[in-house]
Amino acid sequence: MISILDVLYPPRCPICDGVRLSDEPVCCPGCLSKISFISEPYCLCCGRPLSADEREFCYDCQKRTRSYAGGVSIAVYEGLWRESIVRFKYHSREEYASWYAEQLILRFSDRLRNLHADTVLAVPMHERKVRKRGYNQAESLAKELAVRMGVPFCKGVLQRTRYTAPQKELSDVARLQNLTMAFAVDEEKLTAYKKDHAFERVILVDDIYTTGSTMEACARLLLKAGAKAVAPVTAAIAGGFVS
Ligand SMILES: [Zn+2]
Ligand SMILES: [Zn+2]
Repeated sequence: MISILDVLYPPRCPICDGVRLSDEPVCCPGCLSKISFISEPYCLCCGRPLSADEREFCYDCQKRTRSYAGGVSIAVYEGLWRESIVRFKYHSREEYASWYAEQLILRFSDRLRNLHADTVLAVPMHERKVRKRGYNQAESLAKELAVRMGVPFCKGVLQRTRYTAPQKELSDVARLQNLTMAFAVDEEKLTAYKKDHAFERVILVDDIYTTGSTMEACARLLLKAGAKAVAPVTAAIAGGFVS
């Protein structure tokens, strides 16, 4: 049955953005076959697909200190998948979050289950940006994932305290330093959260994983705040950087 909401805000295919009738699957079957979803072997740390000469960890994760492990990502940030993520992030397609979350559960159920996560968090966005965009897409995805996993979503504990300029030109070390100062843990909120919830095995959700600097900065803070393990879960992951 088609409701008035479907007419006003019709569900759209997250790949082609075409309007779908509500009793159909959200993604067109044809579109589904156009995406190269990540499958094994992928990096045990960040979830990036491994090339033929990589074992267990991608070059990036072998080279750098990582305070997280056990990550998964749906597909590489390229082609149609990139276009989908760009709409999700910049063009009000917050609704894609539920389908992305479904794909994560569908494709990585074992890996996600084996994390034994007790808390789902999102990489925070600066308040100013959230107001401008209307939502933090990482948080939208994190909430959808948390519901499907039956794990509590923890809001507001991890905060973005500083507005950071795009960091493409910065070196790796400078980028991490810059980011470490951009995030903070709200101790008061964390203490309140810990009264009712475990906070040991954390899933940290972001939309796109690029160099891992953001994850590293956040993971360090979460470990310092008492978490025992942090796993990055993302909708898209950039191809490897060898630098
Ligand atoms: Zn489609
Ligand atoms: Zn990796």
